[in-house]
This record gives sequence, C-alpha cells and structure tokens, in this order.
Amino acid sequence: MSRSTKIVATLGPASSDVQVLERLLLAGVDVVRLNFSHGKAEDHIAIAERVRAIADKLGKTVALMADLQGPKIRVGRFAQGRVRLEAGQSFVLDAQRSSPGDEEGVGLDYKELPRDVRPGDTLLLNDGLIVLQVEAVRGEQVHTRVKIGGDLSNNKGINKQGGGLTAPALTAKDMEDIRTAMAFQCEYLAVSFPKSATDMEMARQLANVAGEPWRHKASMIAKIERSEAIPQLEAILKASDGIMVARGDLAVEVGNAAVPALQKRMIRMAREMDKVVITATQMMESMIQNPVPTRAEVSDVANAVLDGTDAVMLSAETAAGRYPVETVEHMALIALEAERAEEVQIDSDFTNKRFGRIDQSIAMGALFTAHHLGCRAIIALTESGSTALWMSRHNIKVPIYGLTSQVASQRRMALYRNVRPLLMTREADRDTALAQAEKLLVSMGALKPGDTYAITCGEPMGYPGGTNMLKVCRVD
Ligand code: PGA
Ligand code: MN
Repeated sequence: MSRSTKIVATLGPASSDVQVLERLLLAGVDVVRLNFSHGKAEDHIAIAERVRAIADKLGKTVALMADLQGPKIRVGRFAQGRVRLEAGQSFVLDAQRSSPGDEEGVGLDYKELPRDVRPGDTLLLNDGLIVLQVEAVRGEQVHTRVKIGGDLSNNKGINKQGGGLTAPALTAKDMEDIRTAMAFQCEYLAVSFPKSATDMEMARQLANVAGEPWRHKASMIAKIERSEAIPQLEAILKASDGIMVARGDLAVEVGNAAVPALQKRMIRMAREMDKVVITATQMMESMIQNPVPTRAEVSDVANAVLDGTDAVMLSAETAAGRYPVETVEHMALIALEAERAEEVQIDSDFTNKRFGRIDQSIAMGALFTAHHLGCRAIIALTESGSTALWMSRHNIKVPIYGLTSQVASQRRMALYRNVRPLLMTREADRDTALAQAEKLLVSMGALKPGDTYAITCGEPMGYPGGTNMLKVCRVD
C-alpha cells in the first residue's frame, strides 16, 4: 500500500540545494511551499524552476504553493537587538517612535495598533510567549503592563487575543508577490490572515489577472489563523479552493486549547464542501534539532491523518532544521501507519448526501462500486481534476488515479488525499483513451491481469465537467 495523505514541505536555507531537494522529493514531498515572508522574488523563481526540473528528472508529480506574507503586525527594532521584559513592568508600544527600542518601549511596524486596542485587551508577542495587558491608549502610544515576561527581539509578531486587528489581508507586497508567483505558475496560492470571503475573492481576482499571460489559474488556499475567520469559515471555504489549519497564529488568537477541536471541525467542513485542507505548524517541531520526533508529535501527525486532512505540513523543520529529509521520512511512515488503522465509512457518507450534478454523481457511483466490488483501482480521466477531487473527499481504501492531459491539473492533484496524479496523452476517441489508461496502470504495476477497476470519463472527450460515464473492467 502506498501513502494517501500528502506532505507539504516548506523550503528554506536547509533545503534549497539540489541534493537536499532531490532527497526530499524521494522521501515523499508532494507539495513544496515557498514562503514569501522570506527571500526575494528572483530567489523564489529560481527555486520554483529547480523544484520542477528535479521533479521531472525523478518522474515525480509535485505542486508548488506560494504562501503570501500578509500584513506584518510586528514590533520594531531594539538598540541591543533584544530586551528582557519582566512580569509587572510597564512597556510602551509606540507607533510614532523612530528611535530603536529599549526596556521602556519599542516602535511599531504596524502603525494602526493604537486604534485597534482598548484598555483591558491582551496582546501576545513572539507567538504568545510574551503577554502584555493594555492599560491605556494615549495618542499613538499603547501603554501596557507585562503579564508574562521573556526575551523580546527585533520585529517579533503581535497578536491580539480574541482577534480584532484591522490590518487588511493583502498588502502592497502581497500584490507584488502574487505577480511573482503567477509568473512561475504556482498551483496553489496561500493567503495569510484572511478575515472574510471578500479577502479571498480579492486575492483570486488579482491572481487571475496576473496569471492571464500564461492562461494560468491558481487554486486559492485560505490560511485560517485569525479569530474572525472562524465564524466566517463556511463563506471563506466557498470563496476558496481549500484551507490551511494555520495552527501557529490561530493558537495565539484563540488559545492553544481550542485548536484541536477547531482542527477537526475545519477538516470535516472542508471535505464536506469538496475543498482541500492542509494541517500546518509545529507538527514535527522537535526535529528542527533532533533526528527523531517526540511521541506527542507522532500522535499529532497521526491524528491529523485520522481527522481526514489532505496533507500535513512542515515549516521550519524542512526550511531551517538539521534533519529535513529524516523529518519527511518519519512523517511519511506515521501517515502510512495511521491510514492502515483507518475505518472506511463510505455507505453512511452516501446516505447523508445528495448529488445534483452528473459528473459528481458518476464520481460517487465509481467510488461506491469500487469499494463494494473490492476493485484494485479507480481511474478518473479528468481535464481539471475535479472528478478526482470529489472522489477523494470520501475515505476509501481503493487508490484513485487521476489521469489528465493537463500538466497543471496533474500537479494540482498532488495535494488531494488518496489521488495519484498521472499525465496521459490526449485522445479524441473514448475507447483508445480507456485502453491507454489501462495500459498505463499495468505498465506501472498498479494493475495486473485479473484485477478489476472502475474508470470514469466524459463523452465526448476533453471537456472539463463532462464526466458522464462509468465502466467497470477486468484486466485480461
Ligand atoms: P505562517 O503560517 O507559518 O506563515 O505563520 C502558519 C501558521 O500561522 O500556523
Ligand atoms: Mn501564520
């Protein structure tokens, strides 16, 4: 059995050279994340080309995900690079301060902060490690009392407990970065800190315009990391192609303890709405330093798999860690074991759902049939990949092969759980296409004589959304 859950790996200094990249892809990376919070445009373009070249050489399908930085809600810099804050002391965040910070206070990258906070609010700095309580707002100054102290260094992030920072999701830099990402035709574009469906619609519009010269459209991923996004989840999902459970910032805003249940809800909702979902942040954090994960991390990855996530994501582990390749290897093994233990509940999935579209009904028919007949494979001949996406929203042990003539669709499917994307030449004639598909799977060893499989296609061939046929075959 091969692994169904996909692995997203963030690239960085620890993983940008050709040898490491090659080993990462061989270890099982399906989606490469380029983090636009770091690096220059030309570096991202160069890395994207390198990843594609290596994937081609290895015969692997890899999608590229460009992750926008989003609004920088950060403190300024310190004269000494850092200060030590003690519980009980006062500390002033000053939007007008241009001199470097000290023990008394610091400037702000985010100038709107004084208008976003009230006395009594709690501000969390440096991923929640430092806690400040707002006592007063005087003009451009936010006067606070340190509740939990610690070392605060240059440009650390600020979150407000419960949400409420007004920074728009798309900055001028993000708009520039969207153009860069579309120039290398990223399959996925991740938007940081969206608060509403409108943020996602705006990002999509910008991406579509920027992608026009290449006739390229990226799938939009909403990073759920703000309190405000939670009540808007359904609308945000509708406006997006998928979401990321961005547990880093989300945990700071809603509190750590609320995150596991939110993760389960987000994964369930995404799948019900035929969207993809990535579970992210600190999944294998200790492997930044150590060659093996902790038991808690093993459980965390396994539980995300059991929750039904499409992919588990690595951030600093692969971008800046000491063991990027080993981390991916461990993650792949954990996912595989968890999948083995999983139960299939496809029948109840069906009785609870209605299918109004022909293509979607055929996709569901193929799943149901393949599951009950114990087929070896489901083959979806698909232009856009949407047939494979629908099929992959239900948990089933039969592997789904998404066969397409479009390279962009092939790569996009790399994120879909339980979908093996394959490229196939475009055939005008249905019977030739069906025969080609079988031949391809037999040549790969996925099917052998005597095996049954279910296959779907559209007739006439080659129209997105045209799937209208299901056939069950036995290999001669
Ligand atoms: P980031 O997003 O790594 O870009 O901050 C993920 C998260 O907040 O969990
Ligand atoms: Mn984040």
